[in-house]
Amino acid sequence: MSNKFSTQPSLSTQTSSSLFTLTVAPAKVIRGSGVLQAAAAEIALLGSRPLIVAGERTLAISQENLLPILETQQLHPAEASYGADCCEASLKSLRKAAKEHKADVIIGVGGGKALDTAKLVAQQLQLPVVTIPTSAATCAAWSALSNVYSEDGAFLYDVALSRCPDLLILDYDLIKTAPQRTLVAGIGDAIAKWYEASVSSGHLQDTLTIAALQQARVLRDILLQKSAAALKEPGSEVWREVVDATVLLAGVVGGLGGAQCRTVAAHAVHNGLTHISGHGSIHGEKVAFGILVQLRLEEMLQNNQLAASSRQQLLKFYAEIGLPQKLSDLGLGNITLGELQTAAEIALAPNSDIHRLPFKVALEQLMAAMVSTTAPIDSRDSTAVASTEGTSPRRSLMNRVSPKGMSDEVEA
Ligand SMILES: [Zn+2]
Repeated sequence: MSNKFSTQPSLSTQTSSSLFTLTVAPAKVIRGSGVLQAAAAEIALLGSRPLIVAGERTLAISQENLLPILETQQLHPAEASYGADCCEASLKSLRKAAKEHKADVIIGVGGGKALDTAKLVAQQLQLPVVTIPTSAATCAAWSALSNVYSEDGAFLYDVALSRCPDLLILDYDLIKTAPQRTLVAGIGDAIAKWYEASVSSGHLQDTLTIAALQQARVLRDILLQKSAAALKEPGSEVWREVVDATVLLAGVVGGLGGAQCRTVAAHAVHNGLTHISGHGSIHGEKVAFGILVQLRLEEMLQNNQLAASSRQQLLKFYAEIGLPQKLSDLGLGNITLGELQTAAEIALAPNSDIHRLPFKVALEQLMAAMVSTTAPIDSRDSTAVASTEGTSPRRSLMNRVSPKGMSDEVEA
């Protein structure tokens, strides 16, 4: 809690005339069941002395599974734990371990924090990186972004990487061994793409932004329609489709949308909560709650009726699949007013993505939204719909890109 909120990345000020760079996708994606064996030959093309970066538990598993496979390709792997979190101390010790081993490729194995650490170490040492996700909890295996935390798990800053991973290996057999909760969290993180990107892209009409937003909409629809069935049958076809949505398609949205499809309030609320909750809940769970807070803000401060009905739709969806609807669902039912204020203050820091909302948010308003995510729709709001129509980014987006036959809000 003593950590200062860093001001490293600033809000995008990219204009059409500035240099345009995109980090769209990994150079190669290998996907399937039991694909590690085949993937080892691809890893060998990138280097011969890999450093495997993972958490303690994953390292124990990789000694049995991954190391023998790498050795069949005459590779000389070494292993190192990322320690407490993707934090500066871990990054430093991993750079040292990589140099000592004379590593020429980094392999990240695990959840978002392990993969973020591996990607960032690789960038710092200018080495190629391979990501092997062991859960579907985030799109970290795909994205050119790493989040850096304190050793206690408080979000500090994110780092935009110069490229996506060189190789992504999505092995369903590995993902299947992860706790169900990780896929539920991944659904929360992935569905946020629509609610955040549709706001952060504002009224932009450029081709790739519109394409990215369409992918975010498709992603949301896949998750709303298939998640419940997927969670009932791990390993099934529909389960694979949802895993692909959270690990791969969520990455596509961020890759194609770039700076115009950044996070907004949902992730800002997540960032604030990490300063009061440590490792109690996982990333996507806090982000999912953050979506409800963002919609509540749009509803309270803009009288946005579409946000109100989206929130009700998500509450129903969350109840069905087990995502948190309120602070107590995140284990934060007994926090003090001071702690709530701390989380809200961090979410409202000057460089926070919450300022991408098309209206100003006061501290008291954010705190009110954070404790009223399950509130019933205020009937007075409905009278304001006509006057706000067209001013909300998501409303105007609907006019702009809605494909024929697809309603904006999917019937759950
Ligand atoms: Zn996220």
